[in-house]
Order: sequence, then C-alpha cells, then structure tokens
Amino acid sequence: MSAVVALDVGGTLMKAAVVDSHGQVLVNDFRPTPAEHAAEGVVSYAAEVVSRVPDTVAVGLVVPGLVDEERGVVHYAANVGLQDVPLRDLAQRRLGLAVSLGHDVRAGGLAEGMFGAARGVDDFLFLPIGTGMAGAIFVGGQPYAGSVGQGGEIGHAPVLPNGEQCRCGQRGCLETYASAASIARRYVQQGGPPGTTTQEIVSRASNGDLIARRVWADAVAALACALATYTMLLDPELIVIGGGLGESGEALLGPLGKELAERLAWRDPPALVGAALGASAGTFGAAILAWRAVGYGDAGVNWRLF
Ligand SMILES: [Zn+2]
Repeated sequence: MSAVVALDVGGTLMKAAVVDSHGQVLVNDFRPTPAEHAAEGVVSYAAEVVSRVPDTVAVGLVVPGLVDEERGVVHYAANVGLQDVPLRDLAQRRLGLAVSLGHDVRAGGLAEGMFGAARGVDDFLFLPIGTGMAGAIFVGGQPYAGSVGQGGEIGHAPVLPNGEQCRCGQRGCLETYASAASIARRYVQQGGPPGTTTQEIVSRASNGDLIARRVWADAVAALACALATYTMLLDPELIVIGGGLGESGEALLGPLGKELAERLAWRDPPALVGAALGASAGTFGAAILAWRAVGYGDAGVNWRLF
C-alpha cells in the first residue's frame, strides 16, 4: 500500500503525517522548526519521515508567507526564516520523490473544502485567526492566490483610517485589532492584567470586565468590517473561521454574525461557521497536494480521515 508524507511547517513547529491511499493517517509526528538553516532542516525532517514508510510515493510541504506554488518557491516566510528558496526542487532532489509545495492556509482551506466545514461549497473564505491572520480565498471551487501569490492577506486589509500601527508597517490593519496576539496586547495596553490569555479575555468580555469588553468589541467590529468588504467583493456562500480564536465558537460567531448582518443592509450575509479540522487542516492539505503530485485526483483517494 502506498502513502504520502505531509509536512506543515509553522513558525514554532513542523507537523508531519503519513497518509495512505485510503486517506488514513498512519503516522503523526512533530518537532520544533529549526532556528537556523530552515530549508535544510525541513528537507532533512521530510527525509527522516519518508525513511520510516517504505512505500512513500510523494511529499507535500506547506509553509506560511509568500509562496509561489507553481514554481515551487518560497519567496518570503519571515517566521520560518525562508527567503527565495526553491524548496520544492531542493526536496525533490534530496528525496528522489515527487514533491508539492503549497501555502499553509490555502492548503488548510483545501482540506476544509474537501472534508471539513466547507465541504461541497465552491465559494468561501477560510480565515484562521491565531497569532497572525491570513485567509484563503476559494472561488469556483479553486483556491485563488492572486497575481504574485499574495492574495488572501485580509489580516492587512485596513479597517480604520489612521488606526493603530501594524507590525507590517501599515496603519489600521485588521490584524492589529483582531488577531489573538493583538487582543492580548491591547488588553494589557488598556490596563488589563498582563499574562491574560486571549481565551480568558473573551470570557471576561461577557462577565463584566469593561476593558475586555471594549477590546473584544473592537476585534469583532474590525472583523465585521473586513468581512463585509470581502462579502461585497466576492459574494461568498460561506466564511469559515479557524485558528485559536475560531475555537471560541459562539462567543465569536454570535456577535460577529450579528454585526456582519448589520453592516450589510441590502443583502444577506454569508453563513459563518467555525473550522472543522483544527490545527490539522494544513497537514491534511499538504497530503492532498502530495497525492495530486503523483496524479491522484481528489476522487482517487478514498479519504477516510475521520
Ligand atoms: Zn498590517
């Protein structure tokens, strides 16, 4: 029985899975992302996982940042330490196997679309909200990466003219108000006790903590503003919120859905749901890309992950 190796490279961890042609996960593994020589570290780790499964036929690698999937090049992934690296070809030469390179969030969206929260939906936004925030745009059933692979960076869409400074150099970006890291930072800046987690802030917001309530209201308003713009431009059927904040469930989806509906005066808002695959979405997406690299159409793999 043949299998593929899927590797999701994040800022902190590299997560690996071996997935067979029945779509079943045979091996799950992880290790810290190397602080230096990231390309070598990623390829060596892939080689190690491949060596554990003799029938491996392909490898799928997904990374954050600016990724040219067609050429197999990582242009810029700041939190992994990769810049202008032809990672697909490097891995292919070293492993002697077909390798596919993808963007972590677009790959995660692919998995959510195939067997997660957006199953059967052609037009949707997959928006994981964690330390940062990037989205994956799906139009007509296909991920849309834009002209140079920077499509979907809704976290840096401006939601407030002359708003707070974003780490990216712009002002008033969505991420500045609504990422998990920004919510925690703004809570402390406005007088909340340091060390409070974003989850605690979310629950305090509904329990009379006025600072938490204000910071949370700002986050929801910023998200509603950006999602109203997205809805007007692309008319999605569905918006899938993932990442750590997506796990807040109704505490986020309730107020966000209400505020999004209020902003859209003459049309219905798209459905708003939490992601289904959690932190595994990127790895499953990498497995899909790996199977595609050896010519398996999505129907060729009998996905039975759950
Ligand atoms: Zn920004």
